[in-house]
Amino acid sequence: MSEHDIQKIVIVGGGTAGWMAAAALSTLLKNGAVDIRLVESDEIGTVGVGEATIPPLIAFNNMLGINEDAFLKATMGTFKLGIEFVDWGAAGERYFHPFGPHGQDFQGVHFHQLYLREARNSALPPIQQWSMSVAAAERGRFARPGPDARLPLSQLAYAFHFDAGLYAAFLRTIAEARGVRRIEGRIVDAIQSANGFVSSVRLADGQTVDGELFIDCSGFRGLLIEEKLGTGYDDWSRWLPCDRAVAVPCQLPGAPDPFTRSTAHKAGWQWRIPLQHRMGNGLVYASAFLESDEAEALLLSNLEGKPLADPRSLRFTAGRRLNAWNANVVSLGLSSGFVEPLESTSIHLIQSGIAKLLSLFPDRRFDPVERDEYNRQMQTVFEDVRDFVILHYKATRRDDSDFWNHCRAMEVPDSLAAKLDLWQSKGRLFREGFELFGTASWVAVLLGQGIVPADIEPAADAINPAMARDALEKMHASYARMAEHMPRHADFIAQACAAG
Ligand code: FAD
Repeated sequence: MSEHDIQKIVIVGGGTAGWMAAAALSTLLKNGAVDIRLVESDEIGTVGVGEATIPPLIAFNNMLGINEDAFLKATMGTFKLGIEFVDWGAAGERYFHPFGPHGQDFQGVHFHQLYLREARNSALPPIQQWSMSVAAAERGRFARPGPDARLPLSQLAYAFHFDAGLYAAFLRTIAEARGVRRIEGRIVDAIQSANGFVSSVRLADGQTVDGELFIDCSGFRGLLIEEKLGTGYDDWSRWLPCDRAVAVPCQLPGAPDPFTRSTAHKAGWQWRIPLQHRMGNGLVYASAFLESDEAEALLLSNLEGKPLADPRSLRFTAGRRLNAWNANVVSLGLSSGFVEPLESTSIHLIQSGIAKLLSLFPDRRFDPVERDEYNRQMQTVFEDVRDFVILHYKATRRDDSDFWNHCRAMEVPDSLAAKLDLWQSKGRLFREGFELFGTASWVAVLLGQGIVPADIEPAADAINPAMARDALEKMHASYARMAEHMPRHADFIAQACAAG
């Protein structure tokens, strides 16, 4: 240990962000030598949503040494192979954004180029038919990917659905076992030292909790990062006009599907997240285009089972905290920004923030170089996610409401416009820097919503046509064959991780 090492960390908030941070920092920082306290208020509670995830969470679990089956059992979890999008490109259309790739690249050419080339000559099924995850999802099947790269099962990728409250409780058990101390209480003030750094927080009962590094996981309000430090917010609602959600769980209509469904409606969309014991549902909408009572009625009319609670309303503004790290406060979770949950990215953004904080972990001198690099990286991560989510709204042919007319016609960020131009000319896509979503994801949404490039790459044109057709047919058949042999999702859960 060095004399400059941080010895006291205070985590403000005990939602998903707070407990993810607590579990990770207590696992990875100096074998418990750092004093980590987490302050949360039962009276205030958590946002209580956030139940669909993406594949990198597996790495987070592994980093914490979590047994996946035990985790699913404790959180009523199910497996997720991707998202089915209904009524997005146009009413009546559906497509799947799967985890994992489409097909296999062929003679150095991206699979989607091969597909586009063949699609010019003959009527092909949608590109999703070349995805192992879709083949399994459509049949309600699941198995963990195998290690043999020659088998199609190695291309399956998955994530989870879980109960948000149970997930925080599960992480809390881990964090407390690794030395994190939880303090119950409502923070009423934060005290700053002369250099503007936060030195302690004061609770309603008069107690003060002092620290050297503060992790603000206090939710949308950003208790330290915004209310105390006035960091500022980059508002993205001109591109992402949805600013409300209403959520309600209902009974499961049958065996849980291994995928999330997102169904577009006249002023936003509705999520459907199957867990072991219930279905999570929520309607995301733009208040400028839909009244709250109409949104609630629409949600309730679309439920597939009896509601299990009263609907809950939530408000948000799409955007990002201008500096996720300010002075000695690092914001994680909703306090650092929010992109609506269309692609289930928020929990991943927490994970990404934790990973970057660990790799740029400061000492008590707080070298600005570390802070600036963290902020630069988080800005990129957030903006890449933003662009991908905006794509779903922009790439639509819907003209049945003011909301969709607004989305279709809106200007998009330059970064997205450039990406769309490249795609539209010859179907080219490039993954840069810290981009979360790779080629397969962009292809799934672009083709799924009917944005077909004008031409293809010359290298794809040069492939022998008979060989190309043969490769496509063989790949297609192999995914279907493999999926037929996989266990049913419900049987897999019953055997491996049923909550009982
Ligand atoms: P919160 O859950 O709000 O926790 C804040 C904590 O701070 C609480 O413990 C609270 O008690 C504490 N606190 C606040 N003020 C004080 C105070 N004064 N004193 C003491 N404690 C205080 N993400 C996904 O990845 N997938 C999804 O499917 C998904 N769906 C979503 C749907 C909606 C409608 C919304 C709004 C979000 C969704 N998210 C999703 C995002 C996800 O819910 C959050 O990223 C995640 O729950 C983390 O929240 P949090 O911990 O930052 O905040």
